Amino acid sequence: MTTRDRVLSGMRPTGRLHLGNYLGALDNWVRLQETHDCFFFSADWHVLTDHGETEDVPQNTIEMAADWLGAGLDPERSTLFVQSLVPEHAELHLLFSMVTPVSWLERVPTYRERIEQQQIASPSYGLLGYPLLQSADILMYKPRWVPVGVDQAPHVELTREVARRFNAAFGPVFPEPDVKLTEIPKVPGTDGRKMSKSYDNCVYLSDPADEITRKIKPMVTDPARKRRSDPGNPDVCPVFDLHRIFTPPGDRDACATGCRTAGIGCLDCKGVLLRHMLPPLERIRERRQTFAEKPDRIVEVLHEGSRRARQTAQRTMGQVRAAVGLAP
Ligand code: SF4
Repeated sequence: MTTRDRVLSGMRPTGRLHLGNYLGALDNWVRLQETHDCFFFSADWHVLTDHGETEDVPQNTIEMAADWLGAGLDPERSTLFVQSLVPEHAELHLLFSMVTPVSWLERVPTYRERIEQQQIASPSYGLLGYPLLQSADILMYKPRWVPVGVDQAPHVELTREVARRFNAAFGPVFPEPDVKLTEIPKVPGTDGRKMSKSYDNCVYLSDPADEITRKIKPMVTDPARKRRSDPGNPDVCPVFDLHRIFTPPGDRDACATGCRTAGIGCLDCKGVLLRHMLPPLERIRERRQTFAEKPDRIVEVLHEGSRRARQTAQRTMGQVRAAVGLAP
């Protein structure tokens, strides 16, 4: 039997997933489970760095897991777990905090961006230590690969540095994982900006076909194409970015030509997009719905996955404790 390379990745449970989340990460996770030993987790402690409110987190975790299962993650093949149900992550984070210089954390780009953009006058240790907790999340499972978008790559680099630092101090416990860069397609929201919950411009995996149609029909197009008789430019049109994802080349090229020659109107063009976009999304939504109707089953899946993840985490922590050598 060949051993599969291990992969680990996580998402913060902020509720239902949209197309950007799906195409930027989840779709890739589903493919990875065919060829890798996958650990995917709900990073619920990380939500606390955004705000102190936790009342929505349990329901958001269930909604997100329903999307995972709907998209095709299989709990028999992938270990799907919840970070806070594996408290060993906190112990490893603590030990890592003893060997990690504060300056390493202060130079992480996302930390600087967050405090500047949100004008946080007095950042918490949790915000500064966020990437270190991520390092613990990752190294606990000794994965070969960490699939992330390019913006998260510095966090994996920090993780490699932390592994080296820990190994130098206490002995070789942690292999260094590598980044598996996920190619993230441009996924525009209905207003043409990046699809994001904060812009309220999302198409959700849980949206039924009529809801998606209602969102796509008025979607922003090439702003220079004001009248049906004006030729348009697909290269600057957010609708065409979705064609690039969903529409096969024949129909897509026909839409591009029709747009440039004013041979088709934007509503026709969106009709072609919907014809290709709705069936695959409907398959995900239907499967999601069967899980969403049984939230207890989702909770069971997450607890069972967390139990399995914890066995691995406890093995790692046995090695870590032995290497650190505190207990008499
Ligand atoms: S015809 Fe299609 S690609 Fe061209 S501007 Fe309209 S929606 Fe965009």
